[in-house]
Amino acid sequence: MSSSPRIPGRRLLQSPGPTPVPDEVLYAMARQPMDLGDPRLDASIAACEAGLRGLLHSDSAEVFFYATNGHGAWEVVVENLLPPGGRVLIPGTGHFSESWALQTEALGRQVIRTPWNPGWPIDTAAVTQALRDDTGQQIVAVFVVHTDTASGITSDLPALRAAIDAAGHPALLVVDAVASLACTPIAMDALPANVLLGASQKGLMTPPGIGFVAVDAKAAAVAARNPAPRFYWDWRPRQSPLSYRKFCGTPPQTLLFGLEAAFALIAQEGEDALYARHRRLAGAVQAAVAAWAEAGALDFFARDPATRSVSVTTITVPEGVDVDALRQVARERFGVAMAGGLGSLTGKAFRIGHLGDSNAATILGCLGAIDAALRVQGIPAGRGGVQAAIDHLVATDD
Ligand SMILES: *Cc1c(COP(=O)(O)O)cnc(C)c1O
Repeated sequence: MSSSPRIPGRRLLQSPGPTPVPDEVLYAMARQPMDLGDPRLDASIAACEAGLRGLLHSDSAEVFFYATNGHGAWEVVVENLLPPGGRVLIPGTGHFSESWALQTEALGRQVIRTPWNPGWPIDTAAVTQALRDDTGQQIVAVFVVHTDTASGITSDLPALRAAIDAAGHPALLVVDAVASLACTPIAMDALPANVLLGASQKGLMTPPGIGFVAVDAKAAAVAARNPAPRFYWDWRPRQSPLSYRKFCGTPPQTLLFGLEAAFALIAQEGEDALYARHRRLAGAVQAAVAAWAEAGALDFFARDPATRSVSVTTITVPEGVDVDALRQVARERFGVAMAGGLGSLTGKAFRIGHLGDSNAATILGCLGAIDAALRVQGIPAGRGGVQAAIDHLVATDD
């Protein structure tokens, strides 16, 4: 058995998920389980439902929480919305759109993809074209990854909505907001999106283990007509006031107590401040990366600065750089965990997560540690990275 030695002080988790858990959330989970009829459990579930609806700016969406992760939430929408062999359009955003597409195909559905242009967000013109080409209107839904956690790019949801509307196609809009919810504004009813899905361990600052969906009336009607066999994921029996039915069995109580506390923290901070903090910290990371990039080795994966997400920054490295070794030095010597590249970016990029429970101190600590690890590994990087981040934080006080 080998294990790495204890690192004194706090380790920083600057990965894009799971993210650090605030003390308030940890303490809220230090409770005994409850019997399934305990009104305190019902109150906690109701608080999570209200918290999610509030964050989504939806008065009417039905919300369903599951003991699962983001992949489970993907499966939820496939099984509820698509008949066996049914068709869905998945615009290319990178690793996460492709993973969702492969899972959907494994479940016996047909996926139409629009091409992914590496470094760029969704090609909305290709979405309109794919829907226009579907003259028989067989496509049931468009499954969209809002922020692709591998590319670090956020696609423009109103532009995508407009692209669907421009085709005059009735397909539902289903949004994967796993990496964007509680990081950047999403207005489900105003957009509108018909379904939105997420998970507990990213912007919502809770340990992994809860996946959820919000469903509007149009999507619920499509699901009601869908003959696909399903049980655990089925929305219909979950429309019950009884917690045992809502969760198709025992709810993940401990995580729900944590999630309730996380929604309370979000309410306390206020949405505007929450989103401004995410923009500010992302700006600090981007300022550091821009300074590092001046030495010509490192670069942003996202070509257009306006598309760089407030949640995660993907940084490409030149051929010959050992990303895993860099991450190991950052983690074991300097106490900061960051993420590697995924999919086609495996071994070619590293990623800094800056979503959820981060502040100026954790971001500066993270950037300082990565700067140090870059030097230990002899990777050329401009020297002014941390200073540029400080300058950004000093200049940005919104
Ligand atoms: C993390 C993530 C997922 C998958 O979530 P898991 O909980 O790891 O299954 C899906 N979509 C996006 C955008 C993600 O960031």
